[in-house]
Amino acid sequence: MPAETHQETHTFQTEVKQLLHLMIHSLYSNREIFLRELVSNASDAADKLRFEAISRPELLEAGADFAVRVDYDADAGTVSVSDNGIGMSRDEVVANLGTIARSGTSEFLASLTGDAKADARLIGQFGVGFYSSFIVADRVEVFSRRADLPAADGVHWASSADGEFTVSNADREDRGTTVVLHLKDDAREFANGWRLRQLVRRYSDHISFPVLMPVEADGEDGDAEAPGEERVNTASALWTRPKAEIEDAEYGEFYKHVAHDFEDPLAWAHNRVEGKREYTSLLYLPRRAPFDLWNRESPRGLKLYVQRVFIMDDAEQFLPLYLRFVRGVVDSSDLPLNVSREILQTDASVAAMRGALTRRALDLVGKLADERAEDYATFWKEFGSVLKEGPAEDPGNAERIAALLRFSTTKSDSDSQDRSLDQYLADMPDDQAHIYYLVGESWNAVRRSPHLEMLRKKGIEVLLLHDRIDE
Ligand code: ADP
Ligand code: MG
Repeated sequence: MPAETHQETHTFQTEVKQLLHLMIHSLYSNREIFLRELVSNASDAADKLRFEAISRPELLEAGADFAVRVDYDADAGTVSVSDNGIGMSRDEVVANLGTIARSGTSEFLASLTGDAKADARLIGQFGVGFYSSFIVADRVEVFSRRADLPAADGVHWASSADGEFTVSNADREDRGTTVVLHLKDDAREFANGWRLRQLVRRYSDHISFPVLMPVEADGEDGDAEAPGEERVNTASALWTRPKAEIEDAEYGEFYKHVAHDFEDPLAWAHNRVEGKREYTSLLYLPRRAPFDLWNRESPRGLKLYVQRVFIMDDAEQFLPLYLRFVRGVVDSSDLPLNVSREILQTDASVAAMRGALTRRALDLVGKLADERAEDYATFWKEFGSVLKEGPAEDPGNAERIAALLRFSTTKSDSDSQDRSLDQYLADMPDDQAHIYYLVGESWNAVRRSPHLEMLRKKGIEVLLLHDRIDE
């Protein structure tokens, strides 16, 4: 153990305390997800360093072979996940592993019910992340050193989830981060090579970097020395693989990594475009709206790669605002590696990609509407009000969007929006020339309107508009 200096004790931000409490209690039956979250963070860290090294190649002097290492010690009851990615400075460790920066978090957490099952689903809106470690561990340590800082600037973070964490300086020769979990007594099953391999293959196969584990000693001899380490995952970027070879479950796990979501996606579209412009896109529709969907500042957009090199998260230039619920990846072969947000805003090829990706996303929504009515109802409930912004924001696609809209009408039995304009037209009496609608404060207000009486008698269906956005 290297000498440690400058130890400080911090208290977690209130929201983190609440989140920790919630996770430990509500996600108990999903506790194996901790590994997926830690490997996902390790992969993000490698992506970030590879990106920074485009302009500062010296950051890779110690080596450009990225890998995630998963190790364990059955006797000590520990599991560790290490990466040689960007690492964290002392300030970053304190901020990233002690607070949650997303605005609206405290309102969201306050809205949770305390019912473990319901909350487990809600927490999917939030993403679980690093703190999920505490579902299986009663003590977690993090050792990290930022790639552009000297070994003496290594940091050691430790917490037992009791409201506090400590940080101290601890020399670290290698750049990157190691997370060590001291497993709870009832989670010691995870300090097992077979179990960990199974979890890496199930949840993290899509990670583009090799996930390495110690080679198991031959079971028969028991005491044979492990001769080294081996790669456990496929280690190629999922979107670069042929569609036919990718299983639904892999698309699902990749979505969770990209979107920081906890639940499976509702639908996806994976496309490669060749010709004048070359790019691959993998677009997903989430099953549930994030808690901050209506917050203007909340992150949105696609994860941008250029020739498989990660460039940025939340590239919002590839889709319009009314499709802000779409998550996924776009990998361009044409954009320069040093592309910035400013360039994205003005680049003509980006504008063309945005047009094509918008149509792809609308097609994906349309396919869901045509082929999976029940899932479309779920989608509409979560995102319908956002999609309704479309015709005004994007008049060029107004017709396509109109086909996706759903309304409650005088033919609906409840306030659920379940009638399409196509249905309206199909059921319309031959002599009806117009589409009728009524706008009001609430469903009850509109459906009781005296204006409806006469139209009802004539058998004319009326759209009952009562969402704030409808006007
Ligand atoms: P998210 O991954 O959704 O941002 P997490 O809770 O998983 O949320 O992680 C919080 C933050 O901690 C990350 O955004 C990142 O800044 C930092 N972090 C976590 N793990 C690592 C790591 N292995 N290397 C570098 N930074 C990390
Ligand atoms: Mg994470």
